[in-house]
Amino acid sequence: MEYYGYAGRILKVDLSTGSIKTEKLDMDMAKKFLGGQGVNTRLIFDLLKPKIDPLSPENVIIFGAGALCGTPAPAATKFSATTKFPESGIIGTAVGCGGFGPMLKWAGYDHIIVTGVSEKPVYLSIMDDNVELQDASDLWGKDILEATEALYKKYGNDSSVLCIGPAGEKLVRMSLALIDGIGHIGRGGLAAVMGSKKLKAMVVRGTKGIKIADVERFWKIFEFIVGRAFTDRNRLRWIKYGLHGVSEAWFEGGVVPVKNRRESPPAEEAIKTYGLKAFDEVLESYPWAGPSCITSDKLVMKVKKGEFEGLQTLASTTNNPVIFFGLPFNLSFNQGVKCHDIFNRYGIDEINGSYIIEVLIELYEKGLVTEEQLKMKPKPDFETVVKAAEMIIKREGLWDVVADGLLALIRKIPEASKYVIHNKGMAFPFDARVCLGVEVFDMLTNPRGAQSFALVRTPSLAIPNIPIEMVKVLAATYQIPMGARRRIFKDGEWSTARFTPYVENNNTAFNCLGLCYRFFIGRLYNPVIASSMYSAITGIPLSPEEFLTAGERVWNLQKALNVREGFDRKDDAIPERWITEPLKFGEKELRLQNYTRTLTISTREEAEKLLDDYYDERGWDIKTGVPTKEKLTKLGLPEAANLITELGYS
Ligand code: SF4
Repeated sequence: MEYYGYAGRILKVDLSTGSIKTEKLDMDMAKKFLGGQGVNTRLIFDLLKPKIDPLSPENVIIFGAGALCGTPAPAATKFSATTKFPESGIIGTAVGCGGFGPMLKWAGYDHIIVTGVSEKPVYLSIMDDNVELQDASDLWGKDILEATEALYKKYGNDSSVLCIGPAGEKLVRMSLALIDGIGHIGRGGLAAVMGSKKLKAMVVRGTKGIKIADVERFWKIFEFIVGRAFTDRNRLRWIKYGLHGVSEAWFEGGVVPVKNRRESPPAEEAIKTYGLKAFDEVLESYPWAGPSCITSDKLVMKVKKGEFEGLQTLASTTNNPVIFFGLPFNLSFNQGVKCHDIFNRYGIDEINGSYIIEVLIELYEKGLVTEEQLKMKPKPDFETVVKAAEMIIKREGLWDVVADGLLALIRKIPEASKYVIHNKGMAFPFDARVCLGVEVFDMLTNPRGAQSFALVRTPSLAIPNIPIEMVKVLAATYQIPMGARRRIFKDGEWSTARFTPYVENNNTAFNCLGLCYRFFIGRLYNPVIASSMYSAITGIPLSPEEFLTAGERVWNLQKALNVREGFDRKDDAIPERWITEPLKFGEKELRLQNYTRTLTISTREEAEKLLDDYYDERGWDIKTGVPTKEKLTKLGLPEAANLITELGYS
């Protein structure tokens, strides 16, 4: 059979026995779930036993390249990893940018299923049809960048590497892996799952390429997308600064709260220390793009003067040094870059890792943790952050608990639950009191917890004061049906809760195709363009409606799996502190309000109403927050409908 777009094969690796097999990709499954996250989720539905320990040999990791990866489709770079995440116990999919997905396709595989546990450290090398488990004892203990470099040296710079660091090896649950030393993948402990299996890394080089069904149609769509990109007046600024290019707007909006989310720092000071001028003064930078990305946003950063002069690091989300280190811990720009480099090398999730240090500082101030337990007096300074990262890796004393994340900390110190702002154990990069946009709301309803999954377009709905006319344009772009738009837009207001499911469906479908949806890429595609591109490449007809339904199908299947694990409406709840405590921003006290700030949400009852609207829009049971049997059946998911019924839902 001739495959277009797809490589047509799945690689099955059993680490316990060392067996490596290939099997054909089920094309009926591929048509229904598209690829990447979709096929991963369907595969894990059958393979993962209920309620297993995520760090036991029974856990499974399914890696998947998006359906368009390996073709020149702009920004078809996304590689997915689906597993049971140990920080939260959630079954979900993490997605990262880099060369791994495209290279895997070129080697002849769409997905890799990893099961079992190896006796000794290994890495998986995939060189076209030559696939082997290799001894990784020389790599074990190396940080991510060192190990990645060592593999490039052995297999060539044209290979791609997915690797874990010491955090993953030590089973730190708030850990992640990096693709090519830059693309984050797997907040919530993908690296710990790999570490538990003694799988240090995977390296791939493929030479086979991918066939395109309708080349002429493909190039027409390609030229259209590239034309849109090249007429974007902000494109070069985006390539130069990446996400740091929006930092000043974020400071002005108070979007980056500090002190365990108790206040947002004054914008003027933040812009002076961390704005674009400061960036230019401190750093030399070079763009880094995923394969086929035409508006890249990653950077190689080099400190050109002052402390840590000469330090070179890679940054996927280029404002991480400022957002997660500089601002919250009063660091210089240079120190923020250094902390980012340390966390990346260890493979500690910067969002949860930096947030838990903020939490510990507050718990220490309140006398809930002691200097003796922490082996330091935690303060918002450079020494605290660096020492905390080291202690997390060493897992000594209370840090053994901290390494396992926010939920583990709450289990150890129940009173901490009053002070921790999280969803399903994951810290929020955005704060709903600044702006109840889609980006924040999705972090409540996302089965993976607080994960910035919805960030897709400019203007971003994470920022306050986007005019309603613009939100209506976005609704049209997302192809939200007219009936739904009537529910979303009422009386001059719009409902974040009802808008969110459509963004989630859209972005899930993007993940299935392996398409990036970061700001300046997400705006180049829409369901019409993405589905046409899929059809041109694979030769399989796909309408925009079918594209969005596939996203909805995958979202529902993922939700059903997590219902099986015990997650339901209670896990989507808005954090108490957002409801009861204002966020200080200069003279203002920001309270939880609707997006247009015409309605304050000050009681649990009012907050729960938002979830009612979301479940209603999804067609789920409002009382439990669980997909109904009827909905799952309508989406062509009889297996999930049966599961829900067996669990006692209807
Ligand atoms: S915009 Fe960034 S994340 Fe997206 S494909 Fe390009 S380099 Fe990768």
